[in-house]
Amino acid sequence: MPTFVRTDKCDGCKGHDKTACVYICPHDLMKLDKDGSETGHAMKAWNQEPEQCWECYSCVKICPQQAIECRHYADVVPLGASVQPLRSTDSIMWTIRFRNGNMKRFKFPIRTTPEGSADPAAGLPDPDASKLEDPNTLFTQNAHKFDASQFSVNN
Ligand code: SF4
Ligand code: SF4
Repeated sequence: MPTFVRTDKCDGCKGHDKTACVYICPHDLMKLDKDGSETGHAMKAWNQEPEQCWECYSCVKICPQQAIECRHYADVVPLGASVQPLRSTDSIMWTIRFRNGNMKRFKFPIRTTPEGSADPAAGLPDPDASKLEDPNTLFTQNAHKFDASQFSVNN
């Protein structure tokens, strides 16, 4: 489900050099049309290649104006309905709008550590530089040895 910008909501990130959506897009799809020459909407952002969109929704979540929405596939979200995330520092709120006007909101925590304090290598051993050339040894390999007893198969 690629994204699109609601021009009525986008404020061009108030004219900063790099907008939030341009900054965050991992595929460099978001652009800001500073003078309106490309889209007819000056100081509005747009997704320049929706068919290339990874649908990661980083832009949707970071946009401070909630101006970016998802163009939903009809088999997932029927025409006239919408699903929209709103991220804060400790939670994400999903707003579901149904075609009949009903609306539901679901709020989930998004992290268990204060923002900026995550340690991705916590609990893992220090890297062993002597094994850098060993194609059979990955950083996380020894830390997470496969333990078949942790799994069960239901037939
Ligand atoms: S992040 Fe939102 S408000 Fe800022 S330029 Fe992009 S779409 Fe517009
Ligand atoms: S959904 Fe992801 S890939 Fe698509 S425009 Fe937004 S940030 Fe870029």
